[in-house]
Amino acid sequence: MFDLSGQVALVTGASRGIGEAAARSLSKYGAKVMLVARSADDIERIAVEINANGGEAAAIACDVSLYEDVEKAVQHTLATFGAVDILVNNAGVIEPISRIETSDPAAWDKVIDINVKGVYHGIRAAVPHMLEKGAGTIVNISSGAATGALEGWSHYCASKAAALSLTRGADKELGDKGLRIVGLSPGTVATQMQVDIKASGINPVSQLDPSAHIPPEWVGEAICWLSTDAGDEYRGTDCSLRDEGVRKAIGLI
Ligand code: NAP
Repeated sequence: MFDLSGQVALVTGASRGIGEAAARSLSKYGAKVMLVARSADDIERIAVEINANGGEAAAIACDVSLYEDVEKAVQHTLATFGAVDILVNNAGVIEPISRIETSDPAAWDKVIDINVKGVYHGIRAAVPHMLEKGAGTIVNISSGAATGALEGWSHYCASKAAALSLTRGADKELGDKGLRIVGLSPGTVATQMQVDIKASGINPVSQLDPSAHIPPEWVGEAICWLSTDAGDEYRGTDCSLRDEGVRKAIGLI
């Protein structure tokens, strides 16, 4: 449905959930894929599976909270596949879920390191190469939490609001230089993150029945769709996958 042949994609948080689904979808539509996460064995296994299915994938362990790791991952992608055309800033955490008065400051800080600085690190490392090429797509995985507050999620909501701000800011600086920077708010998705949310029992999201969540494969398709010209409409803002019109345009319903 989407033609991404000749494109090279780097996906963070690709060891499971949305990132894994994104890597598989991007490969299905012809992109070469670099998988990035801390769990080296998982990303290596998924890359091997993609290659066995006729795709081209490789993996490199990386903690997105560390700029040197992200820079290394971008350099490794350039050395392996010759470009970074699509960057999916997907890596993210929600644990530890906690009300502010009992939250652990160091753990709160660590979430910001991953969910906010991780997105900045990806943009910072990939953009010079995209500017050289005069083209590139960056998809930042956002959340309804970017604009809505939920009990126990102060770290997560603050981090996703900052990620949306990075989408806006990067578009302002780079949107007229051939780069497409978009956010994707997927709604609730059946991944380990929702298992952790359910176990917390703290707010209405934790009370949702698991059947309310969409499969991660839908988000993978949405990322591929946003990596085509269809993404132009969402430059500098979040696209919501809860939107029926968006789902229809992607071919999900
Ligand atoms: P998940 O299944 O828990 O996967 C999270 C991924 O992020 C894993 O691959 C994990 O890999 C990676 N990650 C975490 N910390 C990292 C770090 N420091 N460096 C590199 N990778 C790291 O969660 P998910 O639902 O797929 O979440 C993916 C994204 O979607 C997140 O940004 C999340 O906020 C967003 N989102 C999810 C939902 C939902 O309902 N699930 C809704 C809205 C937005 P390693 O542990 O191997 O590093």
